[in-house]
Amino acid sequence: MDRPDVSNSLALYERAQQIIPGGTQLFSRRPERFAPGVYPCYLTHGKGSKVWDVDGNEYIDFMCGVGPVILGHAFEPVTNAVIEQLRKGSSFTVNHPAEVELAELLVEIIPCAEMVRFCKSGGTADEIAVRIARGHTGRDKVAICGYHGWHDWYLAANLATSDNLDGHLLPGLDIRGVPRVLEGTTIPFEYNELCSLERVLEENPGQIAAIIMEAARSEEPSPWFLRGVRELADKHGVVLIFDEVITGFRLGLGGAQERLGVTPDIATFGKAMSNGHPIGAVCGRREVMQDAANMFISSTYYSDPAGMVAAIATIRQLQDKEALVHIWGIGYLLQRGFAELGQKHGLDATCPGYPPVTHPHFDFPEELHKPLITLYLQEMLRGGILAGTVNYICYSHSEEDVTAFLEAADNALSVLKKALDEGDPHKYLEGAERGDDFGRLVR
Ligand code: PMP
Repeated sequence: MDRPDVSNSLALYERAQQIIPGGTQLFSRRPERFAPGVYPCYLTHGKGSKVWDVDGNEYIDFMCGVGPVILGHAFEPVTNAVIEQLRKGSSFTVNHPAEVELAELLVEIIPCAEMVRFCKSGGTADEIAVRIARGHTGRDKVAICGYHGWHDWYLAANLATSDNLDGHLLPGLDIRGVPRVLEGTTIPFEYNELCSLERVLEENPGQIAAIIMEAARSEEPSPWFLRGVRELADKHGVVLIFDEVITGFRLGLGGAQERLGVTPDIATFGKAMSNGHPIGAVCGRREVMQDAANMFISSTYYSDPAGMVAAIATIRQLQDKEALVHIWGIGYLLQRGFAELGQKHGLDATCPGYPPVTHPHFDFPEELHKPLITLYLQEMLRGGILAGTVNYICYSHSEEDVTAFLEAADNALSVLKKALDEGDPHKYLEGAERGDDFGRLVR
């Protein structure tokens, strides 16, 4: 199949780069992170599992908006709820009842949730959670494990040494603009390595306000690890925060905490909670959350009713349709089929992780990794698949979509194998090589 013509996308991105520093608002949407020069940069619309770009090409979307789209693009019950609300108004002088309804719904389904605050994104939810933990404990420092947004408190980890965020976000991330006075306030620890957390707590006695971590990304932690984290948090009087921006509403309605049986003091949510409409939530134990009543955490759009009704409609759909059973089943089919193709082509290619969020994993030589991943993304496009380095599954994905994915992957892996055997993937690249990937420890 021909590779899609994306010339309108590329022209638009040229214009963007002139007036939008960095070209995009989300790092993961930078075209350089896919297959530069061949991958579409702008999509205009979507329906179910399909999306269309500014050149009119149609794709089956396996990135799902980089995570938020859990039911499907423009999924009627959610879209209708939002439209209905927009017709009635979208910003009021006082509050909208959906706020209370959504808070009550979250208290019902999230194990740690006794009280809830809302905001507009996952990163802001993390920032609020950390503020509450600091206010609650009267301490300043934070232990982190995983990715928690772009704010000063988090990026401050790289002030002490420039590689502190290597395993959590990006290797050698430049954090210019983050105040140097924050040095030493955010300290990383390693996933599945309880002693690394223990060390942080012992080296900073009585100073750690919060442990914030991705409880899981898409792989199960060692059975003892999270329980050990919980015990350490209790022993040192630290607020335990699970960042459930990815795991929330994907691993289960109650998130990773429900699946893994360890309840944090606070958990943060965003992305899939509202099927692509902006909202974030901070949920937690009453004793900790109650302190937020006396902290200044306040913003006009945090009460936005459109986000609230989108989240209510999304969660109701997830409850009614047993959508997660479907999502897990589809994800499993993809995982199994991909691993079989790896064997067929003599490549060490798998899609490890929890079925709703898997990662194509290739055991390529280090120096060939980037060009070969670029080639993979390029070849998947040829089969009409919008693929990435994460596969997000949504309720609208069908078995036929998985078949299409695997057909595209069959071709992609055959090209990868040829390129690998010849030792020269660049020969097959029709654009440039992709930029650095998120080097995350917690997958
Ligand atoms: N936490 C985690 C675990 C994430 O993966 C992300 C975004 N990918 C964030 C926080 C930040 O969320 P947002 O982009 O909505 O600010």
